Amino acid sequence: MKKEDFREKSYWLTTRPYSPFPALSGDKTVDVAVVGGGFTGLSTAYHLKKADPALSVALLEGQVIGFGASGRNGGFNMTLFGLTLSVTALRFGRARAREAHLYMERAVDTLRDLVALEKISCDYEHPGFLRVATSRSYEKRIRHEVELAHKLGLSGISWMEADRVQEEVKSPVFGGAWWEPRCGILNPAKLSFGWRDVISNLGVAVYEQSPVISIQKTPGGVRLSTPGGSVTAKKAVLATNAYSHLIPALRTKQTPVWTRIVLTEPLSPERMAAIGWQNRQGIEDARNLVHYFRLTADNRILMGGRDVGLSTGLDMDKDNDPVTFEGLENDVRQVFPQISGVRFTHRWGGPVSVTTDMAPALGFLGDERLVYSVGCVGHGVSLTHLNGRTVSDLVLGRKSDLTSVFFVNRKVLPWPPDPVRFVAAKAILAAMRLDDRVRDRM
Ligand SMILES: Cc1cc2nc3c(=O)[nH]c(=O)nc-3n(C[C@H](O)[C@H](O)[C@H](O)COP(=O)(O)OP(=O)(O)OC[C@H]3O[C@@H](n4cnc5c(N)ncnc54)[C@H](O)[C@@H]3O)c2cc1C
Repeated sequence: MKKEDFREKSYWLTTRPYSPFPALSGDKTVDVAVVGGGFTGLSTAYHLKKADPALSVALLEGQVIGFGASGRNGGFNMTLFGLTLSVTALRFGRARAREAHLYMERAVDTLRDLVALEKISCDYEHPGFLRVATSRSYEKRIRHEVELAHKLGLSGISWMEADRVQEEVKSPVFGGAWWEPRCGILNPAKLSFGWRDVISNLGVAVYEQSPVISIQKTPGGVRLSTPGGSVTAKKAVLATNAYSHLIPALRTKQTPVWTRIVLTEPLSPERMAAIGWQNRQGIEDARNLVHYFRLTADNRILMGGRDVGLSTGLDMDKDNDPVTFEGLENDVRQVFPQISGVRFTHRWGGPVSVTTDMAPALGFLGDERLVYSVGCVGHGVSLTHLNGRTVSDLVLGRKSDLTSVFFVNRKVLPWPPDPVRFVAAKAILAAMRLDDRVRDRM
């Protein structure tokens, strides 16, 4: 892992002063070691210490806390599991689609409540979520999703007619929408950095710039080595998300896929008045390759998605793609022609973790000494926070209503080795792009 300037990785990572903690030096022994300082690792460490304050816990982060997707994402606290509710129902059956959605509702509430409980300053807002139709075909798709949610006995989701959507946010391309008031938006880097304060106050030993370069099972547990030292633990958690690609034992469980974001300058009061959006909802469209947009605390428009990037071999350096960035900037102009001439100030991207069926997977790796969590796709902000609690239950050997959900310790169809992996991922992506193109015009 080469050392990188974390502040170049997203706008969010520049919004709060942050000094990384020192790297691991020497040999340490703890009860539990967590690899990865994103939301999964941070939440796991938090829930472990909350469950058993006497437990010694070390967290090893290769760069800085929030360096991965957790410090770069759109900041949507939302309930989407996998691709869509109907894809989940098709893949796992209706009962499990319902179970997954209820888990996600709990995840959204857990995150909101933890932010309040631990007083993490992360510009948390609670404006709800709209999935807007941008063509008749997407309207049909979204109406179907809302109906399915109701058939599954899920509440808190309704159809919002196009004229009501326009009262909320003015765009010539927005039709009706899935409306879900439960959801929120936040600044993900402030949340990540805030978590470091919380867990280190609880006694977790946090080491930054400490990439784990070898993981060895030992008779009593696991030994993790970094360039400066080692941690021997009874159990270890691999919270390495898309970077699991670099860990041989996890490589076939998931593959990294890159999503990108553009950001405007802060909008003037006149521009804000022209677009409405007074209630500041998080918004996505219903494409396979979604567009997602929201306002920041200082009223910039953040727009992400449109397309995704793949890599070959062990390449993890696909954050930037000028074609996608330009496409996204044009999308902002198309969605909000009222603010034409607005300046764009930031572009960035980051890797998400994708399983072959695009649903999350967590559980034991081989035996109970190692626990992993992958596959949060582009919707892991809430999910990782509850997964941290689930992982903590697994580590502590506690059977709970969380460890019994169907995606814990499930069998996932593995990704094939390269170059077949790349070709397969490219083929899936091409099919998704084509479907989007057709539906955009229908
Ligand atoms: C651009 C973008 C937009 C997104 N938007 C949203 C959104 O709006 N809402 C939503 O719900 N989800 C969104 N997501 C997805 C969400 O951000 C992720 O699902 C979530 O943050 C994953 O958290 P994590 O802790 O599992 O992984 P990460 O945050 O990626 O953390 C993994 C960490 O492990 C570290 N690491 C890896 N290997 C090693 C090693 N060997 N040794 C030590 N450390 C290591 C990495 O440096 C990294 O910090 C988005 C993702 C991206 C990239």
